[in-house]
Amino acid sequence: MSRAILWFRNDLRLNDNPALDAAARECREIVPVYVLDERYLERGRWGFYRTGPYRLHFLLESLYDLSEELRSKGSRLLVVAGQPERELPRLAGEYGCSRIYASKEYAHEEIQAEKKLAASFDIRFLHSSTLYQPKELPFAIKQLPDVFTAFRKRVERYAEVSEPLVAPDEIPGPELPDTQIPSLESLGFGLPPADGRAVLEFRGGATAAHSRLDHYFWNTESLSVYKETRNGLIGADYSSKFSPWLANGCISAREIYREVEAYEAEVEQNKSTYWLKFELLWREYFRLVAMRYGQRIFYPGGIQEKAVRWKDNDKAFEKWRTGTTGDDFVDANMRELLFTGFMSNRGRQNVASYLAHHLKQDWRKGAAWFESLLLDYDVYTNYGNWMYAAGVGNDPRSRVFNTGRQASIYDGDGAYRRLWLGEPEKDPAAFLERYF
Ligand SMILES: Cc1cc2nc3c(=O)[nH]c(=O)nc-3n(C[C@H](O)[C@H](O)[C@H](O)COP(=O)(O)OP(=O)(O)OC[C@H]3O[C@@H](n4cnc5c(N)ncnc54)[C@H](O)[C@@H]3O)c2cc1C
Repeated sequence: MSRAILWFRNDLRLNDNPALDAAARECREIVPVYVLDERYLERGRWGFYRTGPYRLHFLLESLYDLSEELRSKGSRLLVVAGQPERELPRLAGEYGCSRIYASKEYAHEEIQAEKKLAASFDIRFLHSSTLYQPKELPFAIKQLPDVFTAFRKRVERYAEVSEPLVAPDEIPGPELPDTQIPSLESLGFGLPPADGRAVLEFRGGATAAHSRLDHYFWNTESLSVYKETRNGLIGADYSSKFSPWLANGCISAREIYREVEAYEAEVEQNKSTYWLKFELLWREYFRLVAMRYGQRIFYPGGIQEKAVRWKDNDKAFEKWRTGTTGDDFVDANMRELLFTGFMSNRGRQNVASYLAHHLKQDWRKGAAWFESLLLDYDVYTNYGNWMYAAGVGNDPRSRVFNTGRQASIYDGDGAYRRLWLGEPEKDPAAFLERYF
């Protein structure tokens, strides 16, 4: 094969990138492309921008970092706006490429785009975001256990996470124009001002992902106490904060998993080091759930296709998303999300349960709000967790959270609620109106 397009999707890295690895082995020249899909910049069915300014900003930073990495390997990143189904064939014609390499996705819209391309193109998809290749699993996808624990036990016993791939030293290709990454403003968005209360100043890209990993593992050894701190609400190090980088593929789950093992060999192995691997298995599981159940992850009744009558009360939803419900734990969390694009796992579980079980609103509207706001939005993890929280996913038990009790356990001294509810001059409704 002489020349091929390498289509970057949610795999914005050169290390451990199976699509790049295959293209580099099988082709003489590579044309790296990212398509800023205009459909994800529009408003979705619930009226929210599908990609809000926090996440878009992080994505643009990640593209910039990727383009610098490519440049150091003698290549360039072509960034175009449009739809992959149209842009990729056009670019393939322009640069004389006979094949496309890309990472596989598992959600409906992404699969539709893949199918359209595959109908008229020689295209190879590789699994880049999972810990295991489907063929490395001890069961067929259609036999995926419906309960996480059963899945976990089987992979822990019978599957092995293989070594991350190493990026090629050079990426040869034709003469390519300089990378042009659009600004947030040119795409019609404004970045909300940084909020000093945010858990972290997230910066997109593989470089920042690896610095964060070095910080959390090697410099501070926070990994050693992860299991005790992971339900925290305030500050940078109660949890790894890897999620925005994982969602954009700036770092792979496999790289993190292997680094945990290196830490276990060099520093210590304990229940905390195990627990980070355990959480990566949850992430894996929701990918497999999407592979197995397809569009059902977006059904109101979820993968269970449960008959639930969700209410549609705009006022109640508005209070929820502006953090003005009157439940101070829910409100503090929703404001953190609105003002920073991040929320802890504990917070997410509570606000999701509150929306679905207390307010009885369609969980998919909450999921769409998360999709717009979260820096780490990832379709599989988001919809998987939302279904779970709403009682229509993989959990046979009902998961109704008593938010008052949760607040007294996890925010006993009220510090978290004071942090987010104590600044009256930052009006959530006006903020929302201005930036979203
Ligand atoms: C309603 C709801 C929606 C969510 N939406 C998303 C989302 O869109 N994107 C996202 O990355 N996470 C989502 N999560 C999962 C979880 O809250 C975040 O992954 C986590 O808070 C990110 O912080 P961290 O990287 O510090 O996590 P850590 O606790 O340090 O965990 C390390 C990694 O393990 C994975 N992980 C942790 N918890 C979960 C979980 N419950 N399910 C699956 N994987 C997990 C993530 O990749 C995370 O980065 C959601 C959870 C809920 C309850």
